Amino acid sequence: MKYKNLNDSEEIVDFQQAVVQGLGKKKGLFIPEYMPILSSAFFEEIERFSRQEIAFQVLRPFISANVLSDEELMNIVDSTIAFPIPVEHLKDNCSVLELFHGPTMAFKDVGARFMARCLGKFTSKDKNVTVLVATSGDTGSAVAQGFYQVDGVNVVILFPKGKVSPFQEFQMTSLGKNITAVEVDGTFDDCQALVKQALEDENLKKQVNLSTANSINVARFLPQMLYYFYAYQQVKQTLIEYKQELVFAVPSGNFGNLTAGLYAKAMGLPVKKFVAVTNANDTFCQYMQMGNYIAKPSVQTLSNAMDVGDPSNFVRIQHLYNQSLDAMKQDIVSHQVGDSETLKTIQAIQAETGVVLDPHTAVGFVGLDNHLDTNELGIVLATASPQKFDTVIQNVLPNYKSPKVDLSTAKKQQIENDYQAYKNLIWASGKK
Ligand SMILES: *Cc1c(COP(=O)(O)O)cnc(C)c1O
Repeated sequence: MKYKNLNDSEEIVDFQQAVVQGLGKKKGLFIPEYMPILSSAFFEEIERFSRQEIAFQVLRPFISANVLSDEELMNIVDSTIAFPIPVEHLKDNCSVLELFHGPTMAFKDVGARFMARCLGKFTSKDKNVTVLVATSGDTGSAVAQGFYQVDGVNVVILFPKGKVSPFQEFQMTSLGKNITAVEVDGTFDDCQALVKQALEDENLKKQVNLSTANSINVARFLPQMLYYFYAYQQVKQTLIEYKQELVFAVPSGNFGNLTAGLYAKAMGLPVKKFVAVTNANDTFCQYMQMGNYIAKPSVQTLSNAMDVGDPSNFVRIQHLYNQSLDAMKQDIVSHQVGDSETLKTIQAIQAETGVVLDPHTAVGFVGLDNHLDTNELGIVLATASPQKFDTVIQNVLPNYKSPKVDLSTAKKQQIENDYQAYKNLIWASGKK
């Protein structure tokens, strides 16, 4: 499989290069050259496969054997998916797919772990790579934990001072070694701007091999397809028995997770539709309604991992549907949910079922609830554990508590919002 650059048709690379580079020339995202289709026998027999076998069969067509052998790929998926990914019934014909049983309790663990292991294979002792990340919380913690002690890979994470939860800060700053966590006196947008500036700094790139681990990286986004296959494996018998069709609701920010679901469907997974759910950052919803895409600055909400005004994976979705809004509407409905409804939903679901949803999952649930028919089985992707967002949840469930974290041993650096200071840290982490 080769990967093509959406902004530069001349640039065609293999999986390894797409992963190491992250972003292509002219800031173009990489996409697979064609969509592999899985055999009907695969879906007929899916119950018989282990999760590792499913992962292998789904991902093998995307990665040439000369980049990763069967054995290497099997080992990578094996250690990536080392935790459960269960579907749990919530109420009526709604279930949740719990994606938060990994080390940082949010769904980004699978992508981050897979990418870290691939990058570890692709680097060698004499050619270290420095991975740059800006985070509002979840990406940084997943990347820190996923890349910890991977040989040949250094990670520099920027996070905005005072704007990540103690839990998230703990997960980024407790590690040290090859993980440099940097608190920036600024906003998330400032952090993101610093990373972009470094990635475009030709001088710096001569001295340090730079990559990035945001969901634009194919190694982070492709393994997210697996969630949808695992969900299907678990509900297939119910679908047959009750003659139901499958609907997924995806709480979305950069739309990497939704894009992966759409890829799974394009590979043959029998999904009737996807509900793309956003918070007040509704650029995608506006597009679905009006047909024009107008990026906006992000606004802060209670589901902060979804505070994205210009979702980077939108171009991948558009390409998948040949730029046709009508074709997109066959597979996707969109829904937007405000903060007060998010809180009301956390409270109501807890009262009705005893289950505490995290704010992102609650947003997803509202979207599903508004678009699910009786002959359908709906699954909300539960993207984070409520434990990560206890302070939000306490607005409506004052007695809700999550375990305390101890930040006293934090290994973090602090900088002003200043490019030179950032550059010095990158240098220190990984000179060629
Ligand atoms: C990152 C994140 C999202 C948004 O996922 P995208 O793939 O960026 O759309 C939703 N919920 C949580 C908890 C996240 O960490």
